[in-house]
Amino acid sequence: MNVLVVGGAGYIGSHCVRQLLAAGHRPVVLDNLVFGHRQAVAPEIPFYDGDLGDPAVVAPILKDEQIELVMHFAAFAYVGESVTEPRKYYENNFVATLRLLETMLDNGVSKFVFSSTCATYGEPDTLPMVETLPQAPINPYGQTKLDVENCLKAFAHAYGLSFAAFRYFNAAGAAEDGSIGEDHKPETHLIPLVIDAATGRRENIKIFGTDYDTPDGTCLRDYVHVDDLSRAHIAVFDKLNEPGAGYFYNLGTGRPNSVREIINAVEAVTGLKVPVVEADRRAGDPPALYADSSKAQAELGWEIKYTEVKDIIATAWKWHQAHPNGFDD
Ligand code: UDP
Repeated sequence: MNVLVVGGAGYIGSHCVRQLLAAGHRPVVLDNLVFGHRQAVAPEIPFYDGDLGDPAVVAPILKDEQIELVMHFAAFAYVGESVTEPRKYYENNFVATLRLLETMLDNGVSKFVFSSTCATYGEPDTLPMVETLPQAPINPYGQTKLDVENCLKAFAHAYGLSFAAFRYFNAAGAAEDGSIGEDHKPETHLIPLVIDAATGRRENIKIFGTDYDTPDGTCLRDYVHVDDLSRAHIAVFDKLNEPGAGYFYNLGTGRPNSVREIINAVEAVTGLKVPVVEADRRAGDPPALYADSSKAQAELGWEIKYTEVKDIIATAWKWHQAHPNGFDD
């Protein structure tokens, strides 16, 4: 299938492009390179530098490349910034996505795969988290993703759009060969920050809160390998042949790890000592978030290859060793 990967130069998008190739599809990338990296996409893959919210950019790509399905990974994802600059998040994550969907429908493309997030649930009442939990985001980032989800439902009903929205837990790790990986500027995610603290690129890692009601007092999260995430996006293709079909899936391993466990695992994988500073809680961090992904496993045959967090960290470490400063661009 000819697949337009919007945000294909970003962290999850670039891994998905690799998996599409491996599965025999033909990916085409659209990315404005605000957060994406040109080097994350192999030179032989058709690449367009432009904005997903601009029909003058998107419509010719859909036509010229005979696109049959669009995957959308391009979003701003700094939760704290979404609170202080919500305009940016509504504009980029919601309004631009709406424009993309309109351009698709106007050009006869009606299959859509969307990057959503467990942040759409807010603070869950029950764990592990199933898809039917109430969705009550606690920040504009989660809200904009939920707004898109709701838009997709209405468009499926009214216009025959078929879609799958994946609610990711904590995407982590890197390509097995270490050639592409996580490179956010600024970086806020735990695993790359702990690796930086291990190698001395950062002075230390601050643990945000040690007094949570969890076994070791630090927050529990569900770290899921980026290639496992990517494979689910492709496994859903067959279900999108039916016009108006819509699916929501949680993607996580269901095995939570605490911040301290991540630090210990990084020390074990790297053989390096991680300097740790115990700090105050970060505003808006729920104590525990982890997925029940049995729906994706049952309906898509989704298999989690990386069930152990140390194996996920080993791929992040391989990427880091090959590219200590991330991509050059
Ligand atoms: N965290 C931390 N120190 C850091 C960054 C993150 O203790 O420098 C904690 C954070 O409070 C959360 C977990 O690590 O409990 C994962 O945070 P991350 O920002 O990677 O992902 P999130 O779960 O917030 O999406």
